[in-house]
Amino acid sequence: MAAPAPGPVAHGGATVGTLVRDAAARLAAAGSGSPHLDAELLAGHVLGVDRAGVFAAGEAQVGPVQAAAFEAAVARREANEPIAYIRGFREFHGLALAADARALIPRPETELLVDAAVAEVAARLAGAPRPAGSPPLRIADVGTGTGAIALAMLAALRKRRMDGHVMVLATDASPEALQLARENAAGHGLADPARLEFAEVDLLPAGVSGLDMVCANLPYVKTADMASLAPDLAWEPRSALDGGRDGLDVIRRLLLRLPGVLARGGVALLEIGADQGASIAEAVADVLPGWRCTVAVDLAGLPRVARVEYGPHAERGPHAERGA
Ligand code: GLN
Repeated sequence: MAAPAPGPVAHGGATVGTLVRDAAARLAAAGSGSPHLDAELLAGHVLGVDRAGVFAAGEAQVGPVQAAAFEAAVARREANEPIAYIRGFREFHGLALAADARALIPRPETELLVDAAVAEVAARLAGAPRPAGSPPLRIADVGTGTGAIALAMLAALRKRRMDGHVMVLATDASPEALQLARENAAGHGLADPARLEFAEVDLLPAGVSGLDMVCANLPYVKTADMASLAPDLAWEPRSALDGGRDGLDVIRRLLLRLPGVLARGGVALLEIGADQGASIAEAVADVLPGWRCTVAVDLAGLPRVARVEYGPHAERGPHAERGA
């Protein structure tokens, strides 16, 4: 039997632990808000292990190929490139979604919108028996970006054997983003044209109507706030973030479309910024008289998902109480 292969050759004695510590110091100096986490994630990415694996490998020596790959990744992060773009994916609602400069990186707060959308579909399917041959619930994800909302919703519904009852239209004005969304759909086995359609369009195609639900995480950052955002955000498409003077320009344009596109009883679930709970209600009162707007808070207790539907303001649905 051959002797065991020698371990990786030491290069200046660099162990995983030393490289990670040095990288964390560099990233702290470069202004990262989470230098240790960043260094561990990048080391895990290069070594092909998770963070626990990075700790476990602390004393192991790093070979030249991996050391060079790690150096390149750390240099990218020093230039503020987001970890998701360097690793090429981001976990969202249990899915590893491909992420790159073509689209906004999916954010954890948007998982709340997905949960609300799935609960809405479940409630609608439970509310009325659906005989065979019933048309599917029609749902739009407007400004789908990576496809995060549409795909996480479909994946969650598939787990519950409910995906056969929906048809999702995922739109984006950016052809590059839409291509990424298609790749993600294929990557998760969700590219079924009977369940999911894509459209390259500003908001929604002309002539769309009868939608049971419109979901959207549109740009909502105020233009004046764009300059003071964390430097990482400069790597993401500005068109996915900049929402104009009060941040609600694009959302307001979508609100104006709702009477034409929603079916009777249809609802819109819109992600908003933490400081927009009052301004979204004002915008709805302004452009959609007679419509109701309730706002659900996220896990941090901040306004996050606006629910907009036709109906009297006095009536408060269960959504309004969530997390309150
Ligand atoms: N939540 C994002 C951020 O400020 C904004 C996303 C958006 O504009 N839809 O990081």
